[in-house]
Amino acid sequence: MSERKTYFVDVILPLSIPNTYTYRLPFELNESIQIGIRVIVPLGKSKLYTGIVVKIHESVPQNYQVKYVESVLDDQPIVTANQFKLWKWISNYYLANIGDVMNAALPSNFKLGSETKVSIHPEFDRDYSKLSDQEYLIVEAVELQDELTLKEVSEILQIKTIQPLIKKLIEKKAAIVSEELKAKYRPKYKSFVQISSELKTDDELGIVLNELESSSKNKKQVETLLRVVQLTNWGGGVQIPVLKKELITAGASDSSLATLSKKGVVEIFTAEVTRLEELNAEVSSIKELSENQYRAYSETKTLFETKSVVLLHGVTSSGKTEIYVKLIQEALDRGEQVLYLLPEIALTAQLINRLRHYFGDLVGVYHSRFNQNERVEIWNKVLNNDQNQFRIILGARSSIFLPYQKLGLIIVDEEHENSFKQYDPSPRYNARDVSVVLAAQHNAKVLMGSATPAIETYFNAKEGRYGLVELSERFGGVQMPEIQCADLVKENKQKTMKSHFSSFLLTEMEEALERGEQLILFQNRRGYTPLWSCEMCSWTPQCKNCDVSLTYHKSANVLKCHYCGYYLSPPSTCGACGSHKLKMLGFGTEKIEDELAVYLPNAKVKRMDLDTTRAKDSYATIINDFERKEIDILVGTQMVTKGLDFENVGLVGILSADQMLKFPDYRAFERSYQLMSQVAGRAGRKSKRGKVIIQAFEPNHWIIQKVMQNDYIGMYSQEIVERRNFNYPPFYRIINIQLRHRKRDVLEFGAQFFAQKLKAVFKERVLGPEVPMVARVRNNYLQNITIKFERTASAQKVKDIIMQKQHEFLAEYDFRSIRVVIDVDPQ
Ligand code: ADP
Ligand code: ZN
Ligand code: ZN
Repeated sequence: MSERKTYFVDVILPLSIPNTYTYRLPFELNESIQIGIRVIVPLGKSKLYTGIVVKIHESVPQNYQVKYVESVLDDQPIVTANQFKLWKWISNYYLANIGDVMNAALPSNFKLGSETKVSIHPEFDRDYSKLSDQEYLIVEAVELQDELTLKEVSEILQIKTIQPLIKKLIEKKAAIVSEELKAKYRPKYKSFVQISSELKTDDELGIVLNELESSSKNKKQVETLLRVVQLTNWGGGVQIPVLKKELITAGASDSSLATLSKKGVVEIFTAEVTRLEELNAEVSSIKELSENQYRAYSETKTLFETKSVVLLHGVTSSGKTEIYVKLIQEALDRGEQVLYLLPEIALTAQLINRLRHYFGDLVGVYHSRFNQNERVEIWNKVLNNDQNQFRIILGARSSIFLPYQKLGLIIVDEEHENSFKQYDPSPRYNARDVSVVLAAQHNAKVLMGSATPAIETYFNAKEGRYGLVELSERFGGVQMPEIQCADLVKENKQKTMKSHFSSFLLTEMEEALERGEQLILFQNRRGYTPLWSCEMCSWTPQCKNCDVSLTYHKSANVLKCHYCGYYLSPPSTCGACGSHKLKMLGFGTEKIEDELAVYLPNAKVKRMDLDTTRAKDSYATIINDFERKEIDILVGTQMVTKGLDFENVGLVGILSADQMLKFPDYRAFERSYQLMSQVAGRAGRKSKRGKVIIQAFEPNHWIIQKVMQNDYIGMYSQEIVERRNFNYPPFYRIINIQLRHRKRDVLEFGAQFFAQKLKAVFKERVLGPEVPMVARVRNNYLQNITIKFERTASAQKVKDIIMQKQHEFLAEYDFRSIRVVIDVDPQ
């Protein structure tokens, strides 16, 4: 670019604003500017942000004074042209600000804003000689304070644009963006045990042992010490420290270890374990496909010749994953990159082992709970189409945002799952649907897989938009599980219920345990009891910020709001009439866990729900324990339904089918079918037919019948008629507009006003405003307006009008403070 010419750049900022900003480029940066690189730019009085250059031009902005770009961060683009196109598409389709899309797309290490906090990298080797003078000064300042914002660093050191220096420090592993510290560096440390390094010879150890053995009180300590010797492979002072957890599993006693450590015989210390060391996977060749799998695989390939998307509808345990693996191998052989999308971060834990087994380091995991340095590392390797690492990305929805260069195949596993859709914050995108657009950019193929496809997806396949491949047998000829119903009306009448367990289920559980099988119990509700209620006046304790009743959590002994986290101690008397007669209604996973201790006291029970899986690795731990048969019964919410593969599950119990069926949503039947079939599919996967028991007050409900008959197509055929008759997707599209405000009257008035504006154009396609089931969340009142329009209409036109009307609405003085949340294709 010419040296003395005046250029302007359009920049996307990581802020929730609709447009790009234009800045003037100082002459000295003319040579270094490129589309796709980061620049530091000022905004407002004193703030600096990292933005991405999307356009370089010479047209002088009218109407306002342009500011200058402060500096340039990269010598090469970090965002590709394809990515910009995808961001634009998402912004346009989901009616999201481009800055929000950028925020969702870029790892936060890339976005060094004034408010970003930095600290010293925990692995910084304190080799100050590799730092420049200015870098050294920054490190010194941050070391003193533990943590500083970039703005503070810049003020202390009197350097205006601090970001390029911070970027260098991050690259040199001297500094780190603080928000990730907590996420990354806690779970990586584990307790190890070794024999004291004071003991150097067998004789010295012998003396210690003799001393301990001289008193019978020390029997446990002696046993524990011998375990340590055994598991550390100790010999003449040479040893490998052993995980404390492993020792305890092998029979060592925790308290003896503590005593031995006090006596100086063993040492207990914490050290870092890297994930890769733990995995230690060997690469092996991929499995030979069965005849059925091979047919499905070749049909898929044939269909890919004419279709870009294929749906693989294969029953649970039909071996879909092995088919994916073969297609992945072929894409790799062609030098292409592969994206393997999963609905849930949690699921990556089990699948990564399986894929590493075949592909070793070529697989990388990418999701939002992953630490930032690794995310940036993966980003760069994908950007450069590295041939040795991360050519397969296994990830949750945010992995559609990586800078693919040569994407060949996208697998969308469990495509029916609604967690592919992001609800908060904006962009409210569905990664499954975006993946089709992403694939088109690269001329790549999409394979969607599910045992219970979403109605929309199956419809697309039936209509010929997608290819369709059916796989209706389990691998190895294992039969589909036998599904039976426990009639709760009958059992209640005959008084054979034991709390929430029918005698039918309880007996089957006992028998399965006796046979040494494992069990899964599914209850779609967490906590202990969802409802406390006064027997005299029906009063229930409510959240003070939201219009919902509080759920009792026994282990914490609190009543908790699942919307905002508010909690209080359980009251002993009714808040309305003062009566002491408070009863608990309903039940959640915690109560089931509790009651199992009464009815099946010898079984080892673990619970898997949102409450037990908050820590980063807790989900993987539960799954591992279950795989290693250290758990007999796993009780869980829908988390236990999703694509897990266990060998030894003989029985699955679904505790209350009715609850799901009654949920007031047009998808309730579809969802219930999917949930029940998926959890049932966990039963009897290897070599043996499993059993499923569904507890229901309405065992003849048609959905339950379809689940029992394993008749997806029957369910689909009936459901699609309803969708057509009542104008729901896939025949109609839905856009939800939620309005939020702290004052109920302002909101109600505003919602009426907005709905009228929309009705003037869209007529009867506008529903509402109406109060949602939960009418107030975090002290904000809510009102919903729904727009349903024909699939044949121009979605773009509809959206343009909505944006126009929103603009006019928010321009009204009274309504400026109302928050408008638009959700396209809500789930
Ligand atoms: P799905 O993904 O359809 O639920 P999986 O791919 O998990 O099914 O397969 C179910 C089980 O069968 C797994 O334990 C898998 O290892 C095994 N399996 C599937 N295909 C083969 C094959 N071709 N050879 C050997 N084992 C297989
Ligand atoms: Zn609340
Ligand atoms: Zn009362």
